[in-house]
Amino acid sequence: MAISLPVCGINPEERIQGLSDAEISQRIIIAKEELGNDLLILGHHYQRNSIVKHADLLGDSFLLSEQAASADAKFVVFCGVHFMAESADILTSEEQHVILPNLRAGCSMADMANVADVQVCWDEIIDELGLGDPITRKDPTLPAPQGESYVIPVTYMNSSADLKAFVGEHGGIVCTSTNAAGVLKWAFERAGEDGKVLFFPDQHLGRNTGLAMGLSEDELCVWNPNQEDPDWEEIEQARIVLWHGYCSVHRRFTLDQISSMRNENEGAIIVVHPECRHEIVAAADAVGSTEFIRNYVADQPSGSVIGVGTEINMVKRLNEMYPNKTITCLDPLVCPCSTMYMIHPMYLLDVLERIIAGEIPNQVKVPAEISAKAKLSLDRMLSIRK
Ligand code: SF4
Repeated sequence: MAISLPVCGINPEERIQGLSDAEISQRIIIAKEELGNDLLILGHHYQRNSIVKHADLLGDSFLLSEQAASADAKFVVFCGVHFMAESADILTSEEQHVILPNLRAGCSMADMANVADVQVCWDEIIDELGLGDPITRKDPTLPAPQGESYVIPVTYMNSSADLKAFVGEHGGIVCTSTNAAGVLKWAFERAGEDGKVLFFPDQHLGRNTGLAMGLSEDELCVWNPNQEDPDWEEIEQARIVLWHGYCSVHRRFTLDQISSMRNENEGAIIVVHPECRHEIVAAADAVGSTEFIRNYVADQPSGSVIGVGTEINMVKRLNEMYPNKTITCLDPLVCPCSTMYMIHPMYLLDVLERIIAGEIPNQVKVPAEISAKAKLSLDRMLSIRK
């Protein structure tokens, strides 16, 4: 059956249009064989099956960033979204080329925080509360000296390279959903007794992690860049200032969906991602990153009914992997992450065949100055396991 072009994305060349799914898959296999060890295909869990089957390594953003850092292939083709490819470029060598099959595959959450807005927030917090900027310290990676208090910036992996550079320059660190608690602990030690963490862009990951670490609701507040008069009393008593960002996929899950799941399936188990709202996390049996969810589902006994609060491609794959369990998405209408879905096999084939033809197509290249500063924040993260 001939495939039709996806709605979003740049059309690959005519030589690929009109091929059947099977022909595309076969040509990807041939191209992979031809490129051999020069090629590494990284695939995120949220990619569709027709991409995942060609990935050399499958993982979440933390695992894939580790893999990218240790890879020596000349071409790293990243089947994920733009910020992931940027991080891979920062962590690989000058001789390696990171390629995103569809350059339009971004992340709506990452787009919710930009350097200009974060800089305004940063300056206001420092001026208003009289806290230190770690940039003024000789070695900002050491714990804060007794009696000194700082603001420590922490950015989720799901952010642009220039924001990671801002964080690196100001003594901060990147986190993922796998290691957020360890990263926050690291940041609090460097903030000092009365210091704060500025966490962006995902308010939910920051809130869920902070509460799980024992902070109270009063020790968390949200910074909305569109709000004209920040509540300084609230900000002053907060330990974490959360950026007003969220994931449009994980924000869809509701308490009603969890109730329905439990009512219709006695003994149903609920596991969700920490990008979900806190009330969803609180009502679930378990919470964790995509890698955590994979392992959690694998560990449940045969016959289990498991409701999962994360992206649909991964949930469907888990259900296929474990036919002795019933694994469903909490939201029966949930659509896939629309930007992850922009990586169609046609685009993968297109970039592979262009590499063979001598091109370096769709390269994601972070400018050297930004890359060096962003690498500081990524290297700090890679030194922390959980
Ligand atoms: S699932 Fe959410 S956070 Fe992940 S890429 Fe899609 S929009 Fe971004």
